[in-house]
Amino acid sequence: MDSRRAFYIGRFQPYHLGHQTVLESIAHEVDEIIIGIGSAQTSHEQDDLFTAGERVLMMTRALEDLGVKHYIIPIEDIQRNSVWVSHIISMTPPFKVVYSNNPLVIRLFEEAGIEVRQSPMYQREQYSGTEIRRRMLAGEGWESLVPSSTVDIIKEIGGLERLKLISGRDSI
Ligand code: NAD
Repeated sequence: MDSRRAFYIGRFQPYHLGHQTVLESIAHEVDEIIIGIGSAQTSHEQDDLFTAGERVLMMTRALEDLGVKHYIIPIEDIQRNSVWVSHIISMTPPFKVVYSNNPLVIRLFEEAGIEVRQSPMYQREQYSGTEIRRRMLAGEGWESLVPSSTVDIIKEIGGLERLKLISGRDSI
């Protein structure tokens, strides 16, 4: 059964429609998806704005209609890439296949003998956390790049104000 259970990891800073498109296509291929929220220890930084809990909330709301069982598990980084796959395995339900487009993630799982599948990039120039945070800071439209539930959560937690404050664009 675990051959039909897949693992997908990201930082999701924030969760956007590129991630959503990948997850919807994975959902057609497997029965269950384990979603790792990477760099779970980081938040309140310009490139890592949201806490693991806020990212859990974004994904839980956006994936309500995904149609396959999924588990969302925050995973902290460790300082030793060579044992990172073991760290992941120790924190997750068993799985046989990984979906990723991140070169380091792909390499580490392949070296551990685990099958990795890549999915096509979905308009990467705009559906990217870096671009979304840039637009948020520049006052440009970013809302169309994320699920509407993510927009609501970012507004609810004051995400825009947090980003501006951290980036030194606003006084306390
Ligand atoms: P991310 O949120 O940038 O992306 C998540 C996944 O979605 C990636 O596979 C990415 O290629 C894909 N994606 C992003 N935009 C897309 C689009 N428009 N269309 C299709 N796919 C798209 O997260 P990430 O940086 O890849 O996350 C990897 C995590 O693994 C990080 O938290 C990193 O710290 C962690 N990691 C940790 C260690 C360690 O602790 N030693 C080692 C390796 C990786």
